[in-house]
Amino acid sequence: MSINILKKSSIVFALIVNAFALSWVFQYVCLGKPNYLVVNFVFVLAMVFFSKARLSLNIFGLLLALALPGAKVIGSGIVQNAVVEVIFGTSVDEIIGFHSVLPSKLLLTALAVFCFFLAYVVFNKRLNTDFSKKGRIGVYALLLISLPFFTYKSYEIFAPRVNDIIDAYKFITDKSAPKAPEWIIKEQKPSAYDTYVVVIGESMRSDFLSLFGFKADTTPNLKSIPHKAIDGMVSPGPATAVSVPLLLSTADGTKPLTHNNAVNLAQMAGFETFWISSQGFTGDNNYPAAIVSRYAQNRYFNQRMDDFALLGEIKKAVLKEGKKVIFVHIVGSHENPCSRLFDYKNQYDYKVGKTLNCYFSTLNKTDEFLSKTVEILKNSNTTYSLSYISDHGVNFVGDDGDFSVFRDMGKKQQYKVPFYVTSSDMTEHTVIKAQKSGFNFINYFADAIGVKTNLTIDNYDVFSPADENVFVTLLKGEIIPFDSLEDGVNPETLKDYIK
Ligand SMILES: [Zn+2]
Repeated sequence: MSINILKKSSIVFALIVNAFALSWVFQYVCLGKPNYLVVNFVFVLAMVFFSKARLSLNIFGLLLALALPGAKVIGSGIVQNAVVEVIFGTSVDEIIGFHSVLPSKLLLTALAVFCFFLAYVVFNKRLNTDFSKKGRIGVYALLLISLPFFTYKSYEIFAPRVNDIIDAYKFITDKSAPKAPEWIIKEQKPSAYDTYVVVIGESMRSDFLSLFGFKADTTPNLKSIPHKAIDGMVSPGPATAVSVPLLLSTADGTKPLTHNNAVNLAQMAGFETFWISSQGFTGDNNYPAAIVSRYAQNRYFNQRMDDFALLGEIKKAVLKEGKKVIFVHIVGSHENPCSRLFDYKNQYDYKVGKTLNCYFSTLNKTDEFLSKTVEILKNSNTTYSLSYISDHGVNFVGDDGDFSVFRDMGKKQQYKVPFYVTSSDMTEHTVIKAQKSGFNFINYFADAIGVKTNLTIDNYDVFSPADENVFVTLLKGEIIPFDSLEDGVNPETLKDYIK
């Protein structure tokens, strides 16, 4: 083999490596994981044979390397609405958190990738190949063939993300005043506590909680903290976007009147209001809750989706002087449960499949999150009440020891949620078994903070032992009796696996 041929083949090899690295880092940074790597690779391979195109692509690679840690922390790439929150957050008077400490391993990876592309930029000229006529035709053919595929795939993958970004931008920069509330406070007594914390959970179904008798000990802390809890609470809807506004606002039938919400009621009653969330501010699933959050005086959104990252912010709010209501919206057990654990250990090994074991562990994680929040309150010298309700439950399907999450509006477990209250002066451990409607959460809240209003039921007692007539909303606003739904996988069907 002549030296010339050897040199040529090593250049071609270097170009192949370059094209692969460029495609991989582009996909990883923009989308969070390689999505159409092959199409991308073939197109970039054709491009890197041209000196100027190669130089530009490798400079672009340098920029992507810088964005790599951010892409990893956000999760599914930088081309998404959450990035708009990070960029525009502070400029629109939102306090949007991006405080995760970047692990040093990640920074080293980014540095290595940066140096890799830097070498290609520096030695760009050395990679020039003198094409034979055949070679040149080959590269042009590759370019012509791959271009339409690359364009089509890019459009297909990026268009919805770009639309989300545009929506998020519009939502974040929308300066129009929120609709004025119709609340009239008819009567107000001094509130029983100085600090109220209202935690809205995520996808926590009540029948898997040891608090209500489930065999796996998923809620050891909630059991030991003095409490009044309801086994039989039913969420108003099957999904976050439907349920959260209905929990926190008054409703006209199934339509939440989000301008009459718990946040602005608390404010009218003289409380300072806080909204602390590990769920995003934008995105189709988040807008309905975010609309309610806009009424809060202090807002904090953490992008990391790890609930423990909220505790510092909760502590700051709790330690602030004066009467206050702190709303906390957590990610809890949102699918995929395994990815909600972060550093939290998956502590179960039942023969039910990894997903369900992870789900049980997310229940423990929320249990621990709530107990840490109670600790913060206890150490604060304030009188407090903490209430917790999940936005909805979740349904599982499967058999033969392998169960997976499958949201199903037709199953009771999609709506069965815990309701739990503890306070600074509580000593009892009470669980009330009664069917209750999440539509009444706003009535509970008004009563808890000591107000009677034109839009809520006077003296509503959520802990009365009487069953309520419970209806649930489906996604399209239909309303049906809860009792008409079927049972899904439940503790009884799992009894051979969990003893
Ligand atoms: Zn939800």
